[in-house]
Amino acid sequence: MTDTSTPLKFDGRAVINGERVAARDGQTFDCISPVDGRVLTQVARGGQADIDAAVAAGRAAFEDRRWSGMAPAQRKRVMIKFADQLLAHADELALTETLDMGKPVKYARSVDVNSAANCIRWYGEAVDKVYDEIAPTPSNSLALITREPVGVVGIIVPWNYPMIMAAWKIAPALAAGNSVVLKPSEKSPLTALRLAELALAAGIPPGVFNVVPGFGTEAGSPLALHMDVDCIAFTGSTRVGKQIHVMAGQSNLKRAWTELGGKSPNIVFADCPDLDRAVEAAVGSIFFNQGESCNAPSRLFVEASIKDAFLEKALKLVPQYQPGNPLDKGTVMGAIVDQVQLDNVMRYIGLGQSEGANLIAGGSLASPVAGGCYVQPTIFDGVTPQMTIAREEIFGPVLAVQSFTDAADVVKQANNSVYGLQAGVWTRDINKAHGVARALRAGTVHVNQYDEDDITVPFGGFKQSGVGRDKSLHAFDKYTETKTTWIRI
Ligand code: NAD
Repeated sequence: MTDTSTPLKFDGRAVINGERVAARDGQTFDCISPVDGRVLTQVARGGQADIDAAVAAGRAAFEDRRWSGMAPAQRKRVMIKFADQLLAHADELALTETLDMGKPVKYARSVDVNSAANCIRWYGEAVDKVYDEIAPTPSNSLALITREPVGVVGIIVPWNYPMIMAAWKIAPALAAGNSVVLKPSEKSPLTALRLAELALAAGIPPGVFNVVPGFGTEAGSPLALHMDVDCIAFTGSTRVGKQIHVMAGQSNLKRAWTELGGKSPNIVFADCPDLDRAVEAAVGSIFFNQGESCNAPSRLFVEASIKDAFLEKALKLVPQYQPGNPLDKGTVMGAIVDQVQLDNVMRYIGLGQSEGANLIAGGSLASPVAGGCYVQPTIFDGVTPQMTIAREEIFGPVLAVQSFTDAADVVKQANNSVYGLQAGVWTRDINKAHGVARALRAGTVHVNQYDEDDITVPFGGFKQSGVGRDKSLHAFDKYTETKTTWIRI
C-alpha cells in the first residue's frame, strides 16, 4: 500500500555530472499538480547552457570509458542495483508521479514504478547475455561484427507515463554503455530527476546519466540540435516528432528515433468469443490513465448486429470510471495532466457534438477535488470517418464508436489513419483473425484481448506513429553502432 500521508519535499534542480544544480541563468518554472492545482515546487528552467553542460559531462564520461569500459558483468550488477533503488523508493516515486501528473496512486505504484524497475532490471540482465557475431565470409579472413555504444544519447519524453517512458529509453541506452542526457516533459519532470539520483546511488558514475528539465523549445530543441549528441530518442506527439527528424538532419545527422501518436482501431466482430471481455477491454483500455495513452484503442468498430448489446454493457461499466481523488487508493481514473490538456479534451468533446456524433456517456467536466483537472469518461456513438474525433488523437478519456457490416471495409477504415501504432481484433474465427491482423497497418495487433504488454516485445508504430522500436532486444539497435573488423588469419 502506498503511504500517501507523508508530505514530500521536491527538488526541481537539474542533475548534471552527478550534482544537483540550478539552471545556469537561475530561471525556474512552477510545477503545478493537476490533482488540486497546488504548486509542488520550482523546477530549473533548462536552456542551451544547461544542455551544453550536460552534454559535455556525458561526453567526458563516455570518452574516459568510466561506464562503457566497465566489464559487462559489473555494468549488469549496477543496473540491477538501480532497479532495486526504484523499488526501495516505490512509495515516494508513486506519490510523486501522482501529484505531478494526476494518475491514480494505486496504478502509479503497481504499474509505473514496477514497470520502470522491471525494464531497468531486464536490460541490466541482458548486458552479459548478448553476443556479437562472426560473418560467414568467403575467404579465410575473420570478419567480427560487434555492437558499440553510439556515445551521448539525448532523450526527450512526454508526461503521460513519465517514469516508464524514460525507463524504456534510458535502460537500453545505459545498458549498451552510452551516456544519457534526459529531458523530461515540463508537465511532469519530478520523477525523472529522482531517477538520476537513484542511478547515482546505485553506482552509475557521475556524468553518465544527466537530467535537464525545461520546455521543449528551450531545452528540447538544443538537445536535438546539439552537434555533440550522437543519437536523439524521442517520445511525444507526431507534430514535434517530425521536427526532431528535421533537427537531427539539420545538425550532425544524429540517429533519430521517434515514438509518436496513435488513433488505434479496435474491431469487434459479431463472433467475438467473449463479449463481456471485449467490452471490459474496450472500456478499460480507453479510460486507463485517463485516456492519456498513445496506444489507447480510441476508435471502436463494432459489427452492426451486436452494437446495441455491446454499448448496453459498456454503459453499465462507465460509472466505475468516474474520476476520483488520485490519492485515494480506490480511484481508477484520476486527473488530466493540466488545464491546457483538459481544455484540449473538452474542445474535442465539443467538436464531436457539433459535428453530429451521438454523446451517450460523459462529456462534462468533473470535480472530485477542488482546483484539479477532471473530465468524465466519455463515449460517442454514431461516429463517421470524416469527423474530427475519428481522425485526430485526443489523448483523453473519449471513445469514438463506429459500426460496420463488412470485414474488408472495416479493415480499410481501420487503416484510414496517418497513425499505425496498435490495433485490436475480436473474433473466434482463426482465419479471419489472422487475415485481419496481417492486413492491419500497425506495430502491434492484439487478438481477442487488448491489454497484454511485456518488456520482451517491441513497441512502436507504422506510418506517422514513429520510427524505431522501444523495449525488447530490438531497442539495442537504437543505441548501438554496428562495426565490422576484418582480421587476416
Ligand atoms: P509533445 O510532443 O508536446 O512533447 C513531448 C516532449 O517533447 C516534451 O518533453 C516536450 O517538452 C518536448 N518538446 C516539445 N516541443 C519540442 C521541440 N520543439 N523540440 C524538442 N522537444 C520538444 O507531446 P506530449 O504532449 O508531451 O505527449 C503526448 C504525445 O506523446 C501523444 O501524441 C502521444 O501519443 C505520444 N506518446 C507516444 C508514445 C509511443 O510510445 N508511441 C508513448 C507515449 C506518448
